[in-house]
Amino acid sequence: MGSPLPGGSIARTRPLSGHRGATAAAALRNTSVMPREKQAAMTPVETVQELRDGNTRFVTGRPLIRNVRAQVAIEEQFPFAAIVSCIDSRTSNELVFDQGPGEIFSSRIAGNVIDASVLGGLEFACQIAGAKAIVVVGHTLCGAVKGAIDQIRLGHLTSVLQRIEPAIEESMATFEHRTSSDPRFVEAVTYANVRVAMRHVREDSGALAVAGAVVDLATGRASFLTD
Ligand SMILES: [Zn+2]
Repeated sequence: MGSPLPGGSIARTRPLSGHRGATAAAALRNTSVMPREKQAAMTPVETVQELRDGNTRFVTGRPLIRNVRAQVAIEEQFPFAAIVSCIDSRTSNELVFDQGPGEIFSSRIAGNVIDASVLGGLEFACQIAGAKAIVVVGHTLCGAVKGAIDQIRLGHLTSVLQRIEPAIEESMATFEHRTSSDPRFVEAVTYANVRVAMRHVREDSGALAVAGAVVDLATGRASFLTD
């Protein structure tokens, strides 16, 4: 899983400053970062590898340079992956995995839990729009996970946090101090919550290519889980 994808990584857009004199139309053609053919040719393994590579670029401070405005303007999209992650302001999937517009679907919900609305979006992403894998992404220091451990009750948030309770129950047996002030317990629940969500996606959407990851906010690095 350490080698680059055949034909190189997906995003190839270069800054327009390197194309002085190019017409606007030519510049837009350069933004075909994920054409239908490339999406169709990718395997789920290559999909996860592209996200790993993008995360490495992010962690090492070497993101690809993109004309994001032009990428937004592409007429058709063929994203290779669908990511479900938390709403946390520090965990933008496009930044953490160094992907641009047109390259990933991004479904964000507190605590990266799975509900019917999220599943509906994933079914669109994979069955209609052709994404090759679904990746559930959790993160350290997750307020939703801590809130679920603390049994916070607040309006509609209550039902969202209750979806984290199976992960808390799975983690309880191995911990004596089961509070949000124990970082090891919070981490265990965070990983368990990603695994619960992965199972949920597999069972309720029928998707076979499902992966998971947890992003360490201190380093930006994503640790990938396969099941
Ligand atoms: Zn969170």
